[in-house]
Amino acid sequence: MRYSYPEEVIEEVRVSNDIVDVVSEYVKLERKGKDYFGLCPFHKEKTPSFSVASGKQIYYCFGCGKGGNVIHFIMNIENIGFLDAVKLLADRARIQLPEGEDEEERRKALLRKEIIRINTDAARFFFNNLGNNEKAVSYLRKRGINDRTIKKFGIGYASEDWDSLLKHLLKKGYREPDILESGLILKSKNGGFYDRFRGRIMFPIFDLRGNVIAFGGRVLDSSQPKYMNSPETPVYNKSRNLYALNFAKNSGEKRIIVVEGYMDVISLHQNGIINTVASLGTALTESQGRLLKKYAEEVIISYDSDTAGQAATIRGLDLLDGIGCNVKVLTLPESKDPDEYIRKNGLDAFKKLADNAVSLLEYKIRVLKKQIDTNTVEGKISFLNKVASLLSRMDNNVEIEMYVKKIAKDYGISEESLFSEIAKRTKAKSAYRKVAVGRNSISKAPVEKKANMEEKKVVLDERMILALLCLDNTLYKLVKDKIGIGDFTDESNIKAAEIIFDRIESKRGIVPAELLSLLDEDAAAGFTQAINENSHCDDNKNAVLEKIRSIKQYRIKKRQEEILEILKNDKSLEEGDVERLKIELNSLVMKGKEI
Ligand SMILES: [Zn+2]
Repeated sequence: MRYSYPEEVIEEVRVSNDIVDVVSEYVKLERKGKDYFGLCPFHKEKTPSFSVASGKQIYYCFGCGKGGNVIHFIMNIENIGFLDAVKLLADRARIQLPEGEDEEERRKALLRKEIIRINTDAARFFFNNLGNNEKAVSYLRKRGINDRTIKKFGIGYASEDWDSLLKHLLKKGYREPDILESGLILKSKNGGFYDRFRGRIMFPIFDLRGNVIAFGGRVLDSSQPKYMNSPETPVYNKSRNLYALNFAKNSGEKRIIVVEGYMDVISLHQNGIINTVASLGTALTESQGRLLKKYAEEVIISYDSDTAGQAATIRGLDLLDGIGCNVKVLTLPESKDPDEYIRKNGLDAFKKLADNAVSLLEYKIRVLKKQIDTNTVEGKISFLNKVASLLSRMDNNVEIEMYVKKIAKDYGISEESLFSEIAKRTKAKSAYRKVAVGRNSISKAPVEKKANMEEKKVVLDERMILALLCLDNTLYKLVKDKIGIGDFTDESNIKAAEIIFDRIESKRGIVPAELLSLLDEDAAAGFTQAINENSHCDDNKNAVLEKIRSIKQYRIKKRQEEILEILKNDKSLEEGDVERLKIELNSLVMKGKEI
């Protein structure tokens, strides 16, 4: 990881943002003793295992193991990098960050600003063009789009000329290389440039603050591709944006409807359903899921039935479900899109469909029913098996029972056979778990596995020593003659040891949450666990000494085994070598006794 802010600045930002306050903006927390608990935003759960320790300013999930300080929380929940998280928190606490001395960072920030300016001017250019093109206007009229909506969404038109936008932007004073970075122009084989979007209705794509970050273009005839979007640029990442979320987030509704295309969103908005966004691609990503979860309690997916049944779409829905979104699916009859449906059946009919959207599980069962011919005996059995395995994955028995009753009735299967198939599968699962656990604890486990576990324990012990030192810097006096940086084996532990030892020796000191900012994300989560566990150690002095003994003993044992192995198998050893190794072996035995 590369930092462009001094450590003190990062620490100032961290301490100025109380972790309980920040987490509370995303998660409902309840106080239990001196810690806070809530439902983990990073995995799906029904009973809270996500904890926030106000004293230590860290969070930790006992379910999925995610943890860290307030900066890591923001990184994870907003899906952004370390520096962006620091910037966001600095903003929140109104701390002025120093202008990055990092030339590269500054150049990038300037480029991002320039691209937004270019996009904004391009959007105006397209918008002003629209009136001059009869075909484009009549297309929008035919779809029932009125002037107010055209203005609200900034809909425009890119003419069929090869370089009218390029010429316009150059006249405005923009530089070719910057325009190229915006994705609005392309480089031709002979080195010249030309407009990417030609002969298309243009839809500007906005970020949450209303900046134009990209464009989508639709052809007016049947030529291909029907839709074309801006490429990824320094300001646009398609997996992190949802079209019209800048409007939908202010709808005041508890649910957000996700549709496929620009036109669906636009027509729904014009009809007053402003809690609608488009995914700009079939499969939803985790980042988009987190955005949706932030602004809505319920996410209703309304794709046309061709897209909705596709494996990629279902994967996207599973992903939403996995991060704890309450997902429902609205299927429109006869493969219509929402726009067409509303024009034919009216707004109320659509609202009714939205109210009756089905749960993800019911939806999956519907898809199965379509895919499997249940008129044959094989088909019936296959359908029953697949439904049973879907249901057996649920962890709530009341819900399972409710679904069994409903499905049995809806699809004409007997409740008993469905229950017995589910029971087989849940039994198989728990039996498997028993075997897996049993295997690990058997002493005859393969030697490598045992060695592996020992190594893991050493890494954890090392981490524990460092966590204790962070929690109580005065322990350092006690251990500094007993352990050095060279005693640590794990790479991230070595890095942490260097930081901690240096801070304490230079009398600057360090607290656990501060250490976390200086480590990479995975190491930070590991340390959070160690720090969390240490709240149970009453006697830190003895705990740290005990761990030091334990890692030293491990090193000695490891070296002994190595020497014995060499003595036994290495035929090329000379007499002097053998002698030397034997002396080392003896001294190791002595050392081991001293510890
Ligand atoms: Zn979790």
